Amino acid sequence: MAYNDANVFAQILRGDAPAFKVYENDFALAFMDIMPQVDGHTLVIPKYTAENLHDVAPEILGETMKVVQLVSGAVKSAFDAPGIMIAQLNGAAAGQTVFHLHFHIMPRFDGLDFKLHAREVEDGEKLAGFSERIRAKLP
Ligand code: AMP
Repeated sequence: MAYNDANVFAQILRGDAPAFKVYENDFALAFMDIMPQVDGHTLVIPKYTAENLHDVAPEILGETMKVVQLVSGAVKSAFDAPGIMIAQLNGAAAGQTVFHLHFHIMPRFDGLDFKLHAREVEDGEKLAGFSERIRAKLP
């Protein structure tokens, strides 16, 4: 399937849709998931048109993963999380709902279950506070 730049992450990259941004460099952008499965749920996307893992240039993927690693460390520290889960879905059959490549960074705690995937929009003030907390842990 050809990349469709009407998707919401492409809109965020163009500045046509809002986002609670956490970090960005020339290659990738990190921002809060608006329907988080857990507090601190953050997304990292490449600043390039790729629908999924299979159609991104390897060097862009590498740069994006550097940002995943950096932001994941900041999320872990900001939420004092004993575990961090990285998730990445390819294709509707795998549960992908936004067709611009993205990595989920999700804090995990013993005994705390996830909320359902992409269901409930979180309060904006809460997300703004979380993004600030994570930014404070970044260089
Ligand atoms: P996936 O199902 O892996 O494609 O994940 C898409 C993710 O994007 C879900 O976790 C949604 O909650 C999240 N999402 C959808 N729209 C927005 C948005 N406008 N800003 C931030 N996150 C979003």
